[in-house]
Amino acid sequence: MIQENIRSKFPLLDVEVHGRQLVYLDNAATTQKPLSVIEALDDYYRRRNANIHRGAYHLAAAATEAYEAVRRQVQSFIGARHAHEVVFTRGTTESINLVASSFAKRYFKGSDEVIVSGMEHHSDIVPWQLAGATLRPIPFSDEGVLDVDAYERLFTPQTRLVAVCHVSNTLGTVNPVRRMVEIAHAHGVPVLVDGAQAVAHLKVDVQEIGCDFYCFSGHKMYGPMGVGVMYGREEILGELPPYQGGGEMIETVTFERTTYNQLPYKFEAGTPSVGDVVALGKAIEFMLQVGVGNIASHEEDLLQYATQQLLQLPAVRIYGTAPGKASVISFLVGQAHPYDVGTLIDQLGIAVRTGHHCTQPVMDRYGIPGTVRASFAVYNTHSEVDRFIDALNRVIPMLQ
Ligand code: PMP
Repeated sequence: MIQENIRSKFPLLDVEVHGRQLVYLDNAATTQKPLSVIEALDDYYRRRNANIHRGAYHLAAAATEAYEAVRRQVQSFIGARHAHEVVFTRGTTESINLVASSFAKRYFKGSDEVIVSGMEHHSDIVPWQLAGATLRPIPFSDEGVLDVDAYERLFTPQTRLVAVCHVSNTLGTVNPVRRMVEIAHAHGVPVLVDGAQAVAHLKVDVQEIGCDFYCFSGHKMYGPMGVGVMYGREEILGELPPYQGGGEMIETVTFERTTYNQLPYKFEAGTPSVGDVVALGKAIEFMLQVGVGNIASHEEDLLQYATQQLLQLPAVRIYGTAPGKASVISFLVGQAHPYDVGTLIDQLGIAVRTGHHCTQPVMDRYGIPGTVRASFAVYNTHSEVDRFIDALNRVIPMLQ
């Protein structure tokens, strides 16, 4: 009942593909958007658009207030101590690149190690390599559980930072980030948490986690593409040099010398995506109205239901079975290439992702080319899981 009410807010769920109603199970890649988000974008450009922070006129002041109000909304949503610890970016990828670039400039000494998990997304691997770090990956078990003892042994005098995903986009593992932060801090090492797959599924409290940085994308939490967040603890953000130069991030500019603006503006060079930020506020409102706990328990229910049914299919092998995992199921069918599985069930209206999911080291760990990945959101239903399983049942004979 509550489900029908939620689904009616998402126009895209009514789309048909190949003559059938779409079953959208690629939520880890991006979620669909509720009407409130779509309408907020439309309304922004119809009635509210002006460049922020610099205008003396009403429209600019109102756009600035709308933008800054979302900063305060994000602050409260993730439990940050201050609104100026919330920096708007284009998404998780830009957030991590920002930290990697600025952090390296400030703290790297020429022989620098960053500890990452073995299940990181490429977005939390490559920026550190670009910054010149040697990566020390934390191994994980066949189930997809990080080896915390091995993690403790990876610290050396060259360790500058730990960068770890809160939730794995491929295995669904929810990593013990709070414990990992305690261990890193005991070594005097700060921690960045990649929360791209966490914020839409579990209650995040950055102060409780104790992390120094927390990065996420609006589009994976019912918000628009093109906006994300880099949370950084005030003490550490204050120490970092700017990432990009341009308007808004300055205090004074001369041809000889520039001084920088205060937090968070020091890290927000140029015109931000104001309409997207305003719409992100609506996505947060949507999540709070439904209740993050309700979203989590609904997805957990779908995860259990789908997993049990998948396990009935003899050809299916699931990758990632960590206890308490999030609503992501990666699997393979017999010897079939994941792309073939995805293409065949697409003909039956089922949208799942196939490939390495930007986690090639995870695929190497299991010695596989990729997986098929189904991932659930608050609007998915048991009958959609039934259609997904039915589709697999129909295509499996064609794959062998
Ligand atoms: N980290 C993780 C764990 C992700 O799942 C993703 C998106 N697949 C990213 C980072 C990158 O997010 P974006 O593409 O929105 O910047």
